[in-house]
Amino acid sequence: MIQARQHSTTSTKLASDAASVQKTGSQTAMQSAVLALNRNYMAVHVISVRRAFCLLFKEQAEVIHVEDGQYQSYDFEGWKDYGELKTDLGEREPHEDWIRAVNFEIQVPRVIRLTTYDRLPKNAVKFNRRNVFLRDGHRCQYCGNRYSSPQLSLDHVMPKCRGGLDTWENIVCACLDCNVSKGGRTPLEAGMPLLQKPLKPKRSPLLNRQLAQPKYESWQHFIPQVSD
Ligand SMILES: [Zn+2]
Repeated sequence: MIQARQHSTTSTKLASDAASVQKTGSQTAMQSAVLALNRNYMAVHVISVRRAFCLLFKEQAEVIHVEDGQYQSYDFEGWKDYGELKTDLGEREPHEDWIRAVNFEIQVPRVIRLTTYDRLPKNAVKFNRRNVFLRDGHRCQYCGNRYSSPQLSLDHVMPKCRGGLDTWENIVCACLDCNVSKGGRTPLEAGMPLLQKPLKPKRSPLLNRQLAQPKYESWQHFIPQVSD
């Protein structure tokens, strides 16, 4: 009981301190993502750093640290000690993220394992605006130029008024100008061919982007390769 109380106090301190860290500019650490595995080491979710620490404090998760191809697991205290040792030995790596709590610093874990969760991963990629933009690389599929999200729209390849569906295969990213020029026509009718055939992604486009970053390299141990 006492231990649980201590944990929640530390959790509150760390959370409030993390909020102040965010305000003072060291945003990258708190904005990192953490891969959550189920009890059987299968990747099930990508969660926030804050959520990952909450689960660690509540002893519902442990850190899985990959080093030289070996997995080591740590509870919160063990992970904190490991970080202190690493700091003392001057062995911090540039791609690591650290956050400062009231009287200690702790490394942001990249992977945690939910020790009591045994549901299987959901493979369906969410069909939404953000994922369509990510799938198409924020590139208008008609003129080929790249834009930021507010300058982009979703275009129905087969227009909605003619029975076109809201599906991965019929929705593409289009700039506002191209969307207006195309109007209620098909690409063929408008003489505006698509850059590529729109397909349903096999894996979350955001996850793909994260996997390409060196700091999330350890995720590759838990996420199967997919070929496009
Ligand atoms: Zn365009």
